[in-house]
Amino acid sequence: MIDADPLVYSDLAERLKGEALRLGFDKVGIARADAPEDFGHYLDWLARGDHAGLGYMEKNASARENPSSILEGVRSVVMVSLVHGRSRPENQPLNSAKIAAYAQGADYHAVLWGKLNALLAWIKIEKPEVRGRGVSDTAPLLERDFARRAGLGWIGKNTLLIDTKLGSFTMLGALLLDLELTADAPFEKGHCGTCTRCLDACPTDAFRAPYQLDARKCLSYWTIEHKDDLSDEMAEALGDWVFGCDVCQEVCPWNRKAKASSEPLLASREEWSSPDLLEWLRADPADFSARLKGTALSRTKRRGLIRNALHILGNRREKAAEADVGRLLDDPEPVIRRAAAWALRRIKG
Ligand code: SF4
Repeated sequence: MIDADPLVYSDLAERLKGEALRLGFDKVGIARADAPEDFGHYLDWLARGDHAGLGYMEKNASARENPSSILEGVRSVVMVSLVHGRSRPENQPLNSAKIAAYAQGADYHAVLWGKLNALLAWIKIEKPEVRGRGVSDTAPLLERDFARRAGLGWIGKNTLLIDTKLGSFTMLGALLLDLELTADAPFEKGHCGTCTRCLDACPTDAFRAPYQLDARKCLSYWTIEHKDDLSDEMAEALGDWVFGCDVCQEVCPWNRKAKASSEPLLASREEWSSPDLLEWLRADPADFSARLKGTALSRTKRRGLIRNALHILGNRREKAAEADVGRLLDDPEPVIRRAAAWALRRIKG
């Protein structure tokens, strides 16, 4: 453990934040490593069952109560945000679909971890005895709560972190340090006002109330996290979303003039901003899986993506897809075979 010296570490905090921005993060702030203020809300969310099949959220619940579960002796949590690419071509080709913006470039985890490790290496040059750990998404940390407390933005009615300049199309990361740094002022005031656009626009009514998302109704959950068959209700509600859903962000006024991403690795790739679903169905399974490597799409694997694509084409009664859908009745993946049968019934009317 390193004793705090407010005068020294206040200066170090400022230089650390300067280095974070130099490394390409769009915003950085520091929170004390106290118990998250939102932990009670998190327990309520679990108690309502709103985490759906995300069993790890329940399993790791107590670990989220204190960041020392991630780094023993942690004193400060440096929170960073990074704007990711987003591209939604006006004229999507026929048989295309939508992929959540964050998944259209390289896997953000690798990008964030790389920059967080570089930040840790920088502070170790200044203070070799410091212990730290960079995390993004995979550690039991209530990241949005710490981001708000570090001054990075407020939590909107759509449950996402929003910054007045960056909007909400951002990824969050944290560098936990056993060093006490001067904390930033928390973001106390929300700027949603009387707006309810995200709640009104959600295609599946997944918000039971402002700030409360029921994952059991959320397309992001169903298209990415749910590994088995889609329920008829969700299969019919997919619209054009083949991986994730950005509706509650696309309608948010704070994203209208938000800063564009300056991280080349997170730029949208055309093959994912305008995917050709018929080409997906025809692709060799091993080749298709290889294309997912190094992207966030690999989370749901070929199995989930082709399942979702089949439901979208079935909903559209896409005659041009009939032969390709028919071929997938023999796919090695049972989930794909069942989704193909579902789609074929609709296509054939
Ligand atoms: Fe807040 Fe409106 Fe944005 Fe929803 S759409 S997060 S209510 S500002």
